[in-house]
Amino acid sequence: MVYVGIDLGGTNIRCGVTDPEGHLLAKTSRLTQAGRNWREIVRDIAEGSSEALENCGLDWSSVQALGIGVPGIVDNAAGMVVACTNLSWYDLPLREELGRYVNAPVLMENDANAAALAEYYAGVSAGCESSVLITLGTGVGSGIVMHGRPWPGAFGQAGELGHTILVPDGIPCTCGRNGCMERYCSGSALAFAGKQACWADPDTALWKKAEGDLERLSAKLVVDAAREGDPHALRVFGRFAHYLAIAIDNVISMMNPQMIVIGGGVSRAGSFLLEAVRERIPRTEMEVPRPMPRIELARLGSEAGLIGAALLGRQLEE
Ligand SMILES: [Zn+2]
Repeated sequence: MVYVGIDLGGTNIRCGVTDPEGHLLAKTSRLTQAGRNWREIVRDIAEGSSEALENCGLDWSSVQALGIGVPGIVDNAAGMVVACTNLSWYDLPLREELGRYVNAPVLMENDANAAALAEYYAGVSAGCESSVLITLGTGVGSGIVMHGRPWPGAFGQAGELGHTILVPDGIPCTCGRNGCMERYCSGSALAFAGKQACWADPDTALWKKAEGDLERLSAKLVVDAAREGDPHALRVFGRFAHYLAIAIDNVISMMNPQMIVIGGGVSRAGSFLLEAVRERIPRTEMEVPRPMPRIELARLGSEAGLIGAALLGRQLEE
């Protein structure tokens, strides 16, 4: 049997077929074209899935389940997308609509939770009963796995670590609050802090990295300059790691998971990032040493959402 997974994004609909271990057997991609009628998008999800199945010589009779990772709030029990702002989807009966095309159980989950589940089944947190995945990209996403299951929260909105307030009255966030963790710990926040360092000091190597054009200054270039020892970039990166360590420390105190997994574009900084974060997390709590969860890098990269969506089907068997 195989599993079909959908990574539903604002730009692309990605469909994949995996085996029970999460190996991708085939995948397809088509444009979401977010402004159009939602039923057309659902039809494309079904067609993309069928095409991926055909690509590995299979049809729906071999499919255990179809899982969808949605960038928003879902109610899997009801088969509804509650809210997905990227697509302007609110209270839509996604399972029922897909059922017109697909002869398999349809499961849905928040995309960050799906990615966390992928790392649990097929990635770095394999076998960890409890883990929290934190993705550092344009924004900050986070997904929770507890007792081997995604934890959506009582109302489907758990894991909004990116919009917990890290700095009271800090940098304004797109969500309407000020000082959200995302404004300090995302890839775009790191790039922005690099730009601020350039404005403050024309001597930083960051200018050279960006070839004099601050629009080019990405999180990766800040990391590269820090690695090479530029003091300005090191200061910016150190502050980034400091804030990220506080956020992770809060997660550890709150959830006490076996593992914290760091993913997203910034995680390509690898051990340079891991070491910087690990050394900034206090080893004691209430003056006694505390057991520390492992803090590791995600393994499945940009495929995590797709693989995790597919492996939602494995939850049916457990
Ligand atoms: Zn926010």
